[in-house]
Amino acid sequence: MSRAATVASVAYVALGANLGDPVATIETAIAALADTPATCLLAASSLYRTAPVGLRNQPDFINAVAKLETSLSPLDLLAALFAIEARFGRSRGVPNAPRTLDLDLLLYGEVALSEARLTLPHPRMHQRAFVLIPLLEIAPACKLPGLGAARDQLKSCHGQRIELLARGAAAAQA
Ligand code: AMP
Repeated sequence: MSRAATVASVAYVALGANLGDPVATIETAIAALADTPATCLLAASSLYRTAPVGLRNQPDFINAVAKLETSLSPLDLLAALFAIEARFGRSRGVPNAPRTLDLDLLLYGEVALSEARLTLPHPRMHQRAFVLIPLLEIAPACKLPGLGAARDQLKSCHGQRIELLARGAAAAQA
């Protein structure tokens, strides 16, 4: 039996990198998302330079958010994200450690899930300016299931350093 969802859903993916050439990595990863089977890239945010969260003694991150339309199921989309991370040599070590590429599934339609391998909405997205600011750039009215307007969560991110890097570096595709 195919695990593909029958109806297309809108999903949001957060991208982050802070090793190698992180700008090139994020731009290439956005292109890889656009090439994912049964999936279209609807929009991609600008790129942002952000302070590391958690382990502070590491390079700044480059972050962005992509909006997808997909007929993959949530778990199949997550598997596709893991496959893209692996192409960039991602290995999983200490949480919040430096990484060549991190892809997080933020939202999948209005699905709410709480399983170890997939929690939706992403459990820490509402605490992170590096997620909320690029997300709001491409989805200003975005709502987080169970939490309300994404914009209202920004106040809990006070003091997190984030700087717009290159507007339009990754062009949105309709
Ligand atoms: P990380 O190493 O920070 O990318 O965390 C990845 C781990 O978190 C994997 O084991 C995933 O199965 C799990 N996970 C749970 N929910 C999510 C989500 N919404 N997006 C990405 N990974 C998730």
